[in-house]
Amino acid sequence: MRYDRRVATTITVMPMPELVELVNDWGTLPRTLDPTKTGTDPARTALADEFHPIFDTADGAERARLITALLDRTRVRPALATTPDGTLTQEWTVDDPANAGRAAAALALRHHLAEHPGRIGVCADDQCADVYVDNSPAGRRRFCCLTCQNRARAAAFRRRGKST
Ligand SMILES: [Zn+2]
Repeated sequence: MRYDRRVATTITVMPMPELVELVNDWGTLPRTLDPTKTGTDPARTALADEFHPIFDTADGAERARLITALLDRTRVRPALATTPDGTLTQEWTVDDPANAGRAAAALALRHHLAEHPGRIGVCADDQCADVYVDNSPAGRRRFCCLTCQNRARAAAFRRRGKST
């Protein structure tokens, strides 16, 4: 019997902070609004641009559809493996190594949103398109960072001042 078995690539689920960093540092939209982000990496930018829209919609069904489509594309699949000491361990694999980053990021969002629905977003400041994960106790985060929050508050304060 002959097996024509391709060597599968094992995927490590990307930590959410790493995904946020990828999208913010390399995504076309976050970079357009922040000229301090320099350097080019077309592969990372392409990957970041696949994930920005998932943060940018507030529609849970749309998020589910986008993430499922990305998972389908990578053909990622669950597997069971053994460590050198014989322990059984869960893992994920893809056949095409080019899909490793996409699968790692899509799995991260799948796990995160299944446990914390709605806990991601895009900065509400109109001069920023950075994404964030909402770990706040109340789940009402709207800005990527304090700088954006303060800038938006100051702008709102100035607008109120003009209208009175
Ligand atoms: Zn921001």
